[in-house]
Amino acid sequence: TDTPVTVIGLGLMGRALAGAFLRAGHPTTVWNRTVSKADRLVADGARPAPTVGDALKAGSLTVVCVTDYPAVRELLGASDVELDGTMLVNLTSGDSAQARETARWARRRGARYLDGAIMAVPPAIGTAEAVILHSGPQTDFEAHKATLEALGTVTHLGADHGLAALYDVAGLAMMWSVLNAWLQGTALLRTAGVDAATYAPFARQIAAGVAEWLPGYAEQIDSGSFPAEVSALETDARAMAHLVEESEAVGVNAELPKLIKAMADRSIAAGHGGEQYPVLIEEFSRARGD
Ligand code: NDP
Repeated sequence: TDTPVTVIGLGLMGRALAGAFLRAGHPTTVWNRTVSKADRLVADGARPAPTVGDALKAGSLTVVCVTDYPAVRELLGASDVELDGTMLVNLTSGDSAQARETARWARRRGARYLDGAIMAVPPAIGTAEAVILHSGPQTDFEAHKATLEALGTVTHLGADHGLAALYDVAGLAMMWSVLNAWLQGTALLRTAGVDAATYAPFARQIAAGVAEWLPGYAEQIDSGSFPAEVSALETDARAMAHLVEESEAVGVNAELPKLIKAMADRSIAAGHGGEQYPVLIEEFSRARGD
């Protein structure tokens, strides 16, 4: 807890990160483009650095959390900023290509670099509920893990700097799919006077039950073999047709079920109707421009 740290970027998230370091007892140096955003943290014991260069020298690691990667490159790429010998942990949201490119850029300038993704809102930072994903060299993560743990539950995903960004968007895909499926069902039930709160516990049970299938289905995907152990895709496609027809019959939006059915229909047309649901990975793995 006596490891000095630096936080660059004091927006809603950066202020939460710096506050968590302070509460954990780390000497914390802060810098923000708009200086006044440091006031509260300075009152709480943070040291304001006059320049980015000074901020980088103060900490044995520097967490960067600004709007996007262009902002990261703009502020760390300024001519008076020396990155050589620094340890950067970039928790700014971005895509995997930006993360890999920024890792190469930082390495060329002599910095060690971990990329990260924050799967939490600012009030959760500093608690175990805040999941923070890291990718980059394992040794750099291990060297700073104890310090980073002041921010939340930290995980190292692998050496590829793009992994944190990819897990981040994979999590978003899961979140929106679960929520949209629930909204579809809620809209259907509301046509019969069932309110959302009545359906929610039932929906939660279904979501949790389906989640149990994932490890087994993952084995099928990894082995590239999809025997229909429980049901065949063409059976699922008939149920999809029921969902589309019922939605249309009661005047509920059927766009999403139609989209899902179109993917299954393509897979069946390609000869996969007798295989099990995860064979659809082939539809997801193929880029489509439309
Ligand atoms: P804010 O809009 O509150 O803060 C943005 C920060 O970026 C400010 O400190 C701003 O400085 C700084 N900034 C932007 N452009 C530049 C630049 N060109 N040069 C220097 N500084 C710059 O955003 P958040 O703090 O909420 O988000 C920060 C990152 O954290 C984002 O990538 C976001 O996706 C991620 N995140 C946020 C979550 C949230 O719930 N808030 C959740 C998970 C991830 P200034 O004050 O001078 O404008």
